[in-house]
Amino acid sequence: MSFDSFGLDPLILKAIAEEGYTEPTPIQAQAIPVVLQGGDVMGAAQTGTGKTAGFTLPILQMLAPVQNASPSPARHPVRALILLPTRELALQVAESVATYGKYMQIRSTCVFGGVDIAPQLKIVRAGVEVLIATPGRLLDHIEHKSVNLGQVQILVLDEADRMLDMGFMPDIKRIIALLPAKRQNLLFSATFSEEIKRLAGGILRNPKLIEVARRNATADKVRQVAYPVASDEKRALLQHLVRDKGIKQAIVFSNTKLGTARLARHLEQQGLKADAIHGDKSQSERIAALDKFKSGEIELLIATDVAARGLDIQEMPCVINYELPHAPEDYVHRIGRTGRAGAEGDAISFYSPEEEKYLLDIEKLIKVKIERVAARGFEPVADEPSFHAGRHERSRGRFDRESTSRHTRNTKIEKIDPWFLKPYEEGSAPAAAGPPKTDGNPPPAATGTKKAGVGALLGGLAKKT
Ligand code: AMP
Repeated sequence: MSFDSFGLDPLILKAIAEEGYTEPTPIQAQAIPVVLQGGDVMGAAQTGTGKTAGFTLPILQMLAPVQNASPSPARHPVRALILLPTRELALQVAESVATYGKYMQIRSTCVFGGVDIAPQLKIVRAGVEVLIATPGRLLDHIEHKSVNLGQVQILVLDEADRMLDMGFMPDIKRIIALLPAKRQNLLFSATFSEEIKRLAGGILRNPKLIEVARRNATADKVRQVAYPVASDEKRALLQHLVRDKGIKQAIVFSNTKLGTARLARHLEQQGLKADAIHGDKSQSERIAALDKFKSGEIELLIATDVAARGLDIQEMPCVINYELPHAPEDYVHRIGRTGRAGAEGDAISFYSPEEEKYLLDIEKLIKVKIERVAARGFEPVADEPSFHAGRHERSRGRFDRESTSRHTRNTKIEKIDPWFLKPYEEGSAPAAAGPPKTDGNPPPAATGTKKAGVGALLGGLAKKT
């Protein structure tokens, strides 16, 4: 299948060809015809599937007849409104609209909070056909009367689950009340909770359900492994993986802003190129860190869930969960950073005994058994996986040179609790999709558990009564 078969405007096809896209991704193949026919869509698709082009391309096509070069704002009413949860995501979608529409006379812009509204007011007042916005800032614009949503033909709610998680539901309802009743609605979400289904039920009309991956499933091409490790050994394990396993670049997720900042500082002190991105950082600081990461200047980007939500890093080979998320859906979002658009990737999770319950919740959600891996004394061992980044980059200049200098700085390799060094025993693991089973006792603590086997950590505590 090729993009030609959709009947898209040659100006759009030219822009797609320049991006190097030869064929539509599965979500594009399914969504583009439905959107072009004016139908509503409920898309179960995570980031990395190509969903942005899946809705952007048909929107541009539908706006092709209204293209005009008039300077009058009245000739450029908002016709497509795209709502997203974060500024980064909004910026990326805006970039996609600008890229795919670069040969058309369609105006688009992006509005988000945390920055001065004045420049946005000017652009929005001049008229835009495609408005990409975070909900709160869009409401600010509505209060400023810079925007009128009375001519919106298409509404896109992207990353809808995240918008609900972030408490945008009331804002979304206020915005929807300002839209014409007759319009097309597209809703995309990586996960489908009951709340999302209720939201969809209230907005979409006879939607076509498009699923490109199993619901709540993680990207197929992502290899998922989990290292049992005591909390105070995590820093050393991370350095071991980066130095010795050849991980060239990774997003490292931490659960707190403070933890994120501290980890980045620690890694920098160890000679690694790391930076942190979290909600307390200003927009310009976050963009600067992202740019450095994209250019390869930074190897480890330490991020909180909220800050990383909108990152679009192509072919990101590796995501590391330094701490497991407490909401299993966040795991799906985190590892959506890798294995994008069919590329392979690694998702590595560290879990302390206290975090085991979160790992089991994640497995229950994604219905996949995550392979447990022992980092033997943090020395590279044969049965530890070599990660995709390692296969490409290991023993090549940049990485090796740096790893030598890091070794000299880090002569002390922290000792690992021998409890973690025993090989994983398959038979003692819990069922892939089973609920976390315990005998009612708290999970073993990081200390005082040396006699317990890894199997116990992984579910052996469950006693059949
Ligand atoms: P998305 O899921 O929309 O965030 O897209 C993920 C990545 O896939 C983006 O970096 C896009 O540039 C890329 N992409 C989208 N569509 C295609 C395609 N048909 N062929 C190759 N790459 C694509």
